[in-house]
Amino acid sequence: MSEQQSISLDLIRQLVDGTIDDDNTERLLKLPRKDKDRFFGYLTVLQERVPWDERILLRLGDKLYIVAGAPGERTVKCECGHDFGDYRRNWKLGCRIRTRKTLAEMAQVYDPAPAVPEPGWQEIREFFCPSCATQHAVEVVAPGYPIVFEMLPDLDRFYREYLGRPLEDERDDWYEDHSAAITGQWAQQAS
Ligand SMILES: [Zn+2]
Repeated sequence: MSEQQSISLDLIRQLVDGTIDDDNTERLLKLPRKDKDRFFGYLTVLQERVPWDERILLRLGDKLYIVAGAPGERTVKCECGHDFGDYRRNWKLGCRIRTRKTLAEMAQVYDPAPAVPEPGWQEIREFFCPSCATQHAVEVVAPGYPIVFEMLPDLDRFYREYLGRPLEDERDDWYEDHSAAITGQWAQQAS
């Protein structure tokens, strides 16, 4: 590993930890913008911090990642190891969900009081990992609104066209939303 890269990795560790100082922040800001290696340095730092070996392809949240699982699989994984399945299916559908609907329920997490959403018009949904109970997301939407699929990244295009390092398992059907497969199954079970 070159000295340059080890310095860079150390800085990335500080960035991830939130301990980087002002001088280094300024130095990083002045580096060339299209340094694509920094993304891979970032992945290296993230990979050091998770307890499993699957390769991280993209970070979705503080403790949520898209990983290369078994050959031909790209799945969403919690830091604890819980696997939410194919990344083309909205991972939120595999969460434990708490919905706050009443004024009292919503006031517990909103301050000041005038900011509390209006019951009947909006509800708060909190999404938890079913294994470790990490809260991965919160959405405030109208009751009945479909669960929001926050991000379906076009990984092949990102790796090939932006990073210049195509993934080994490129396929035409990776960039497709398959969430309806789950909700369709639920509808069948309910009927
Ligand atoms: Zn978890």
